[in-house]
Amino acid sequence: TKLTKDWLQNYVDDWVKFYWKHTKEGELPSYIPILQQANKNHLGISIMGTNGVTIESGDVDIPFTIQSISKVFTFIVACMQRGVSYVLDRVDVEPTGEAFNSIMHLEMKQIKKPFNPFVNAGAITVTSLLTGKTSAEKLEPLLQLLENILGYRPALNIDVFQSEMQTSIRNRAIGYYLVETGYLESDQLELTLETYFKQCSIEISLKDLAHLGMILANDGKDPKTGTELIPKQVARLAKSLMLTCGMYDASGKFAAYVGIPAKSGVSGGIVAIAPPRAREENLPFLEGCGIGVYGPALDKQGNSIAGIKLIRHIAKQWDLSIF
Ligand code: GLU
Repeated sequence: TKLTKDWLQNYVDDWVKFYWKHTKEGELPSYIPILQQANKNHLGISIMGTNGVTIESGDVDIPFTIQSISKVFTFIVACMQRGVSYVLDRVDVEPTGEAFNSIMHLEMKQIKKPFNPFVNAGAITVTSLLTGKTSAEKLEPLLQLLENILGYRPALNIDVFQSEMQTSIRNRAIGYYLVETGYLESDQLELTLETYFKQCSIEISLKDLAHLGMILANDGKDPKTGTELIPKQVARLAKSLMLTCGMYDASGKFAAYVGIPAKSGVSGGIVAIAPPRAREENLPFLEGCGIGVYGPALDKQGNSIAGIKLIRHIAKQWDLSIF
């Protein structure tokens, strides 16, 4: 049959090679200086099925910081700590169509709360909801959740944290807007920003990224042990937000052309999720899988330029769309 592990491996190898040339069309981000040290030409993919099959190809051994992908997991942790309704009273679930770090909506007085947990205003608000008096205390349950999923505790990349801390003009401005509009207490501003930059600087591998996606594909349950790592309701809410708001201001296009929940980060990572689907065709990963891609060259919206093309191709060929 077509779907042997070797067949899948060769297939993915071929398409990584094919899309690799597109890395040249993208740019490294300039507003976090240290991220410019990344190699623009890198492109890698890791796919982990809930059935245990893992396929990896390309530049799979480069650790990278999760950046905005952390927003999915701080949102999950805040919901687990505070309850979903407490969190959603303070941050909405609507896409903005604006850049991730836009301050436009914060100025519109009729807007009642930050638009969603994946734009910076909403993400910083969510980070402020994590319980704890220090950034270490606030990050503890997030790191514990990642450890429960991955089997080890990921470390922070301190250089990336400091680079962002020193150049955080825009996020600081967002923080002040949040204080002004009453979403953040002024004495919480510094602690919240420090925690936010630290969560963005958590360093993981491509396989880890696929693993995180695979657990979400399985509604928060570890398929090996059956343990519930994330409550199903929270996992589903996070996935719906990934579908509508996960790919910056290209989220609509990604939903239309790829049709699976995904979240990207400015360091060039994308996690995408193919939940189980009952179809009769002879297609790979019908039981669901997580897909991680890494390609630091970004398009104008801030998504990995070759990474998107690679996921789009595979999602189409393997009929991964949730629709
Ligand atoms: N730490 C970055 C910021 O807040 C994350 C941005 C991103 O990955 O989109 O600016």
